[in-house]
Amino acid sequence: MPVREVSRLPELNEILETSDSNRLIIVDFFANWCGPCRMISPAFERMSMEFGNATFLKVNTDLARDVVMRYSISAMPTFLFFKNKQQVDSVRGANESAIISTIRKHYSSTPANPNAASDEEKKFLERFVGYTELRKMHTDEVFKALARSVMPDGISDRLESGEDEKKVLQELLDWFKNDFFAWFDRPTCPKCTLKCTTEGLNGTPTKEEKDGGAGRVEVYICDGCNSEMRFPRYNDPSKLLQTCTGRCGEWANCFGLILSAAGLENRFVLDTTDHVWNEVYLKKEQRWIHVDPCENTMDRPLLYTRGWKKQLKYCIAYGHDHVADVTWRYVFDSKKLVAEERNEVRQGVLENFLGKLNARQMAGATEERKRELAVRRVCELMEMMVLEAKNQRIGWEKLGEDMGGRTTVCSHLASVNAHAVILRLSGYKLQNS
Ligand SMILES: [Zn+2]
Repeated sequence: MPVREVSRLPELNEILETSDSNRLIIVDFFANWCGPCRMISPAFERMSMEFGNATFLKVNTDLARDVVMRYSISAMPTFLFFKNKQQVDSVRGANESAIISTIRKHYSSTPANPNAASDEEKKFLERFVGYTELRKMHTDEVFKALARSVMPDGISDRLESGEDEKKVLQELLDWFKNDFFAWFDRPTCPKCTLKCTTEGLNGTPTKEEKDGGAGRVEVYICDGCNSEMRFPRYNDPSKLLQTCTGRCGEWANCFGLILSAAGLENRFVLDTTDHVWNEVYLKKEQRWIHVDPCENTMDRPLLYTRGWKKQLKYCIAYGHDHVADVTWRYVFDSKKLVAEERNEVRQGVLENFLGKLNARQMAGATEERKRELAVRRVCELMEMMVLEAKNQRIGWEKLGEDMGGRTTVCSHLASVNAHAVILRLSGYKLQNS
């Protein structure tokens, strides 16, 4: 974080009072006319970038007289070190190595609050924030109208008139996979019709590509005629309605818009090992199911871990007004996952982060909708408990070809310790419940 200037004593006191007790706070007392102060200033800025779990402040001694009096500063520059509301050290003079060694002596990279993210955890969690923007595009009325213009006729009418959601969903999947969207592997040269054999290179998107929401572009060079071919990775789902091609990211993104346009409530699921897919909420069955447009399949959540032998760790589902950690649905043993396999971010930190993201996403929702989401969340947690028990009883080897589909909560409920469910529920911070 950049160095922040403090101009009054109350401001400094508030920072000291409200900071995490493990957080080191370093204050640089400087004056504009002081040569050594100006000399050390860039080094102090660099330190603020290196030590992310510390707060770097500066005090102009000619302006903030109350701070200077409080700490009896008599020479410039002076560096004071605070931790847990107390001054713990000081360094006088522009002595870079002394400042750094004093930081190292008191620095702690982990916050004392078990739910506060460390620097590494923050970096890891940042990737989850951007997808909330993507979801907004799936509920855009203009985009939905564009999607309906390319979709088979009458889908939303049929759903409204009460036709079986799974049947309609399967038809949509068939159409999307067989007639609408194409898998992009490597391009075929339009001039000499040779298929490219080399990897795509990282290119810079053109203005037009950027306007279509492409953050990056793959550039391929034809082996036969050296022509350049471009594959912009579009993020705008309405653009994908025109290009109709891509890899799983484009497939799930475009299909998310199609689902919204059909009137099926859906989520976009991001898995940190690189695959993405969708989930659809079945109103009649009152549950979310796994939907993968690339595979033209639904309700086979163990497809990846069992079928593809992938190790999934974090599967985050983005609804249009909420987010949820749904990894448990896609792994065989979610207890083991949390206890042993997840080490990028502590569970409490992840839950705290998702809770905050959720609060932001739900901000515009009605009270009724918030209650609905809370009830669904409880049902999902029940389903998770039931699924854990079911998987344990069946065993990994004997899992059927349905890859873990259709977990009927009621029929398996007897095998779950109800007390454990309540305990587990209380560990989750349900929003507005
Ligand atoms: Zn060519």
